[in-house]
Amino acid sequence: MSTESPGRPPLVLTVAGSDSGGGAGIQADLKTMLALGVHGMSVLTAVTAQNSRGVQGVWELPVEAVRAQYRSVVDDIGVQAVKTGMLATAPLVETVAELLADTAAPVVVDPVGVSKHGDPLLAASALDSVRTKLLPLATVATPNLDEVTQLTGVHVVYESDMRNAAAGVLSYGPAWVLIKGGHLSTGGEAVDLLTDGEEEHWFRAPRLDNRHTHGTGCTLASAVASGLAKGCTVPEAVREAKEYVTGAIGAGFALGGGIGPVDHGW
Ligand code: PLP
Repeated sequence: MSTESPGRPPLVLTVAGSDSGGGAGIQADLKTMLALGVHGMSVLTAVTAQNSRGVQGVWELPVEAVRAQYRSVVDDIGVQAVKTGMLATAPLVETVAELLADTAAPVVVDPVGVSKHGDPLLAASALDSVRTKLLPLATVATPNLDEVTQLTGVHVVYESDMRNAAAGVLSYGPAWVLIKGGHLSTGGEAVDLLTDGEEEHWFRAPRLDNRHTHGTGCTLASAVASGLAKGCTVPEAVREAKEYVTGAIGAGFALGGGIGPVDHGW
């Protein structure tokens, strides 16, 4: 595999599901990577029939198809950072964990559970595999508050609960966790906490008055992976990713009859 080549952009791989509406999943990941100047590659885990109103259908790929895509990319091209998103089932989570076990590249795990519309994107029976097989491999895990509750049982109501939530996720072994407090009722601010259990970085941004936020989580995690592939530290990559996603949410646009996507062309 080749990882050195002058003039070639950093190599980032997303292992995630497809969103036919183009707002989240693999589509959001590749758009983010293009916008941030890295070469995006994809291992598809599941296909969703999806639009601005919700998810109408989900079809998981066979584990052999996931393994083959990963080997094709890694054995020839190489990767400098990996992002995981929708993994759908326990066998897929375990296959991806097995594939990533010996990678030297940083891994950003977005533990996707349920879509904004409330559609399940991960089987309840897969939660234990996420906790015990995938999270230990993460350089950074990026759960939102619902995912924190699913994974740890901690309910975050106040900003002061975020430390406890972070400790719960870190107990499964990721090097860093970014708790995304976007859904917290903290007045006019969106507050996120990044910590490795020692350092703490709090990120505060004005809460944007735009309901067209489909794909926010995928975009943020892909932007973090892009920063890591460029050689940023985790706090630097998260700070830059937050700036990127804030711009993308600000430019999010109406589409169809429901919730539109964040915009990567801002
Ligand atoms: N569809 C796919 C394939 C996803 O990976 C995700 C989130 O990770 C979603 C839908 C949900 O996106 P959102 O919650 O931003 O609407």
